[in-house]
Amino acid sequence: MRLVLLGAPGSGKGTQAERLKKELDVPHVSTGDLLRAAVKAGTPLGLKAKAVMDAGRLVSDDIVLGMLEERLTQPDAARGFILDGYPRNLAQCTALEALLAKLGQPLDVAIKLDVPSELIVERIAGRAAKEGRVDDTPETVRERLRVYAEQTEPVASHFEKIGKLRCVDGVGELEEVSRRVLAALPAIAAA
Ligand code: AMP
Repeated sequence: MRLVLLGAPGSGKGTQAERLKKELDVPHVSTGDLLRAAVKAGTPLGLKAKAVMDAGRLVSDDIVLGMLEERLTQPDAARGFILDGYPRNLAQCTALEALLAKLGQPLDVAIKLDVPSELIVERIAGRAAKEGRVDDTPETVRERLRVYAEQTEPVASHFEKIGKLRCVDGVGELEEVSRRVLAALPAIAAA
């Protein structure tokens, strides 16, 4: 199963991806996690990305695509993947489709987790207290939500146009949301 998870920051993509990877037996590929690992490791790329991430903006398309290609060409991703945090804009969407065509692994479906913005702000405040992410401050969260609406919403519209988008209600117990996501997957999931 080759799956993209869409949804605003704090909509539960990371949490759901962690649960679904066990069900689907495919890796969870989060560009945010890849970038945070690069920042932590202090690589040149990480140093470049840090300020942009701390401001809630998008890291350059080239950097993220390079990291993504490296990850998706690892052997465990040959079975499929759950992509979380990518694509974030239409240019990344085009780049993803080209990369997957090159790998002979077209996308099966894009699942969008719908969560009302009041709840998003609440959830991120909870996550900030728990995980201490530097980009979870109220000001940065506002910027990330703005960037999402401006740049990432069009990605959902694109997947809708090509008939690959499924929207799932992301409000509720984790188990219930996971069940909804599994139910929204195309029949290939059962194979
Ligand atoms: P996330 O963990 O997906 O919320 O990502 C955290 C931060 O990493 C984002 O606010 C961006 O600064 C950066 N980031 C993650 N994925 C991407 C991407 N696909 N393109 C550009 N920047 C990204």
